[in-house]
Amino acid sequence: MQIILVSRTKKVPKTLDLADRRLRYRLLGVAVGAVVGCAGFGALVALALASPRDGAIAEIGQLHKQVAQQNAQLADVRKDAQREVDALAIKLGQLQAQSTRLNALGERLTQVGKLDDGEFNFDEQPPVGGVEDTSDSPYALPQTLDKSIDVLAKQFDRQQAQLSALQSFLLDAKIESNLKPTGMPLDGYISSYFGGRPDPFSGHAAHHTGIDIAAPTGTPVQAVAEGMVTYAGIRNGYGNVVEIDHGNGYMTRYAHNSQLEVHPGQRVHIGDVIAKAGSTGRSTGSHLHFEVWYDGRVVNPLAYVKSHR
Ligand SMILES: [Zn+2]
Repeated sequence: MQIILVSRTKKVPKTLDLADRRLRYRLLGVAVGAVVGCAGFGALVALALASPRDGAIAEIGQLHKQVAQQNAQLADVRKDAQREVDALAIKLGQLQAQSTRLNALGERLTQVGKLDDGEFNFDEQPPVGGVEDTSDSPYALPQTLDKSIDVLAKQFDRQQAQLSALQSFLLDAKIESNLKPTGMPLDGYISSYFGGRPDPFSGHAAHHTGIDIAAPTGTPVQAVAEGMVTYAGIRNGYGNVVEIDHGNGYMTRYAHNSQLEVHPGQRVHIGDVIAKAGSTGRSTGSHLHFEVWYDGRVVNPLAYVKSHR
C-alpha cells in the first residue's frame, strides 16, 4: 500500500510506501505521539476546569477548622470571664456584708453619742439585687455587677463622710466633757455649802465662795477636769492652793492643802492627784475648800461635784 501526498508548493507529489518498515515505524511514532499529546492536553484541560472547585472545597474545609478552633478559644475565654465574674460577685457580696456591718457600727455609735437621728442616717440600705440575679446571658451579669459596684462605692463614700462627721462630733463631745468640772475632788463629806453663812472666824455674815469638804490631812486631792495648772503656791487666806484653768471658761481652785503635788504650767487630767488635803491658811481644821469659776465669776460648785461622767 502506498500513500501519495500532493502539495501545492511542491510540484512533485511525495509517495509514502507503507511497505517500508522504517516509514511504518515513523508513522506509528507520530500516531503514538498524537495520542499521548491529546491525552495530556485533555488531562490539563480537565485539571484546569476542575481545580477551582476543589480548591474552594479545600479552602472551606480549612475555614471550618479555623472556625471550630476559634469557637473553642471563645468558649475558653467565656469560661475564664465567667470565673472572673463569679469571683467578682463573691468579692462584691463580702463588701456588701462589710457595708452592713459598718451601718450597724454607725448606728450604735449614733445611739452611744445620743445624736440626732436625722443628722446621721446609717439606716439607708443600698438597692438589693445584682449578685444573686444570674441571668442566662453571660453578658448580663457583668452589667449588674458593675451597677452593684457603683452603688456600693457610693455607699462607702457616704458612710465614710458620715463616720468622719460622727467621729469629730464624738471627739468634740468627749473633749467638752473632759473639760467640764465633774465629781468630788476628794473623798469626804461636804461640811459647808456655797453662799451666805456666818464667817467661821468673826461670826459676821459672809459669802462663802465655794464648798468645804472635810477630810483627814494627807487625803489625795484630785483634779475634777482636764486642764493646765495656772497657780500652785500660797495665797492669802487660802494657804497652799492649786488653780487649774480648763480652757473652756472653767477654772477650779483647791485650797488649804498641806502639800502641793503640781507646778504651774503642768497639764493635768481628770483624777490626777494635785495636792494633799490639810488646814493651811484661814482654816479651822483639815478640809478642802473647793471653788468653781465660770467666765470669771465664782459659781456654786454643788451641781458639778454631784454630776457624774
Ligand atoms: Zn471654804
